[in-house]
Amino acid sequence: METYSRTKSVWQRMNRQEREAAVQYCEGYKDFLDHCRTERLAVKRIMKEAEDRGFHLLSAHQPLKPGDRVCLNQKGKSAVLAVIGRKPLTEGLKIVGSHIDSPRLDLKANPVNEQDGIVYFRTHYYGGIKKYQWTCIPLALIGVVYTRDGKKTEINIGMDPSDPVFCISDLLIHMAQDQMKKTLADGITGEQLQAIAGIHSEDSQKPKEAVMALLKEKYGIEEEDFTSAELELVPADKSRDAGLDRSLILSYGQDDRVCSYANLTAILNAEPGEYTQVALLTDKEEIGSYGNTGMESSYFTTFVKELLIAAGSYGPAALEKTLAASEVLSADVNSCLDPMFPEVTEKDNSALLGYGICVTKFTGARGKSGSNDANAEYLSKIRGIFNEAGVPWQIGELGKVDQGGGGTIAFMMADWGCEVVDCGTAMLSMHAPMDLVSKADAYTTYLAYKAFFESR
Ligand code: MN
Ligand code: MN
Repeated sequence: METYSRTKSVWQRMNRQEREAAVQYCEGYKDFLDHCRTERLAVKRIMKEAEDRGFHLLSAHQPLKPGDRVCLNQKGKSAVLAVIGRKPLTEGLKIVGSHIDSPRLDLKANPVNEQDGIVYFRTHYYGGIKKYQWTCIPLALIGVVYTRDGKKTEINIGMDPSDPVFCISDLLIHMAQDQMKKTLADGITGEQLQAIAGIHSEDSQKPKEAVMALLKEKYGIEEEDFTSAELELVPADKSRDAGLDRSLILSYGQDDRVCSYANLTAILNAEPGEYTQVALLTDKEEIGSYGNTGMESSYFTTFVKELLIAAGSYGPAALEKTLAASEVLSADVNSCLDPMFPEVTEKDNSALLGYGICVTKFTGARGKSGSNDANAEYLSKIRGIFNEAGVPWQIGELGKVDQGGGGTIAFMMADWGCEVVDCGTAMLSMHAPMDLVSKADAYTTYLAYKAFFESR
């Protein structure tokens, strides 16, 4: 297949079998999207699939030999999977780093608020969102609550079609003349992002007491338990095929589960290689990678250190040597040309929807500020891998020179001295409650990561 083209889409270039394989792959991807709405649910699924395919927790697997499959579960919110290669670890790892958290609305520590007979859950949004987009859509409440005696209760309300959902109201158009004059940034405020939790009460009960009684009865939760809970409101609608031709997937959370599912599927299916393959599926990217489940944490490098110890290759500077010799794909989504908003992109350097996995030399904006800016030598190597394996790929920058911007985990991994390039799926409506991805691009992302894992 022609691997690089800006005039022929991937679908045009594929033969019948390839198209069928892409559609088939996307059925699995949609199932992943519908069951992994949060980073915790994603890790559960990832660990289950890894276990089924012969991965063991690293601590339970020593000494390591080529072909061994080991994994790490970082506090139920990040995961790392590794397949040991034939070469010594110190010659470097092949790492694909993606993230499994997505923008959403988190419940505050004291969320329950009754106002004029309506009970609300107050929220603080997580990641970058256009707040007005999160009103008037069905929301599911997912997460964990610890009761006073330390018992963990898992909550998942709204994803089952028979469940109730939550919703944030917006002002009716008839009375919105003042609101309509506000900017999109101010039309709905953070304080207004409160989801309705109920209005009913019986006898002399107040609505808030009735809602709390329901929570107590169904989940054993008291109001104080919210103070030590992690509850996320996420869009409740399941993923759907979009377009008459079913060419697209419309779903919540495709940033960055489109790359994460490709990363997981690639490491599960790749032939064990010369080099050790590592799928890193991290949390907290959307809020700057902080916290002990994010990329700024040392959990990943500690995992690599433990790999070295288990393989009997740990010694002076072994960790630093291993990381510096590694090659990394920073697997995160990119924007693409949106014909409805042509003013923000420069056509010839923007990714195109349906034209394959997108390689981005630099992110950042206004003088490449904050960008990893990959080396020509490494870009050339990646280009060679994709061309040789028949993987359709394209280039794409993140908006016009002084327009775009946005970071990934690339620069944090580049701190190790390894080669890193941003390489992920281009999408429309990124960070909206439902974003849009081309099926051909989603499938190509998987092919790209698999080819990278198997490369020399
Ligand atoms: Mn992302
Ligand atoms: Mn994002």
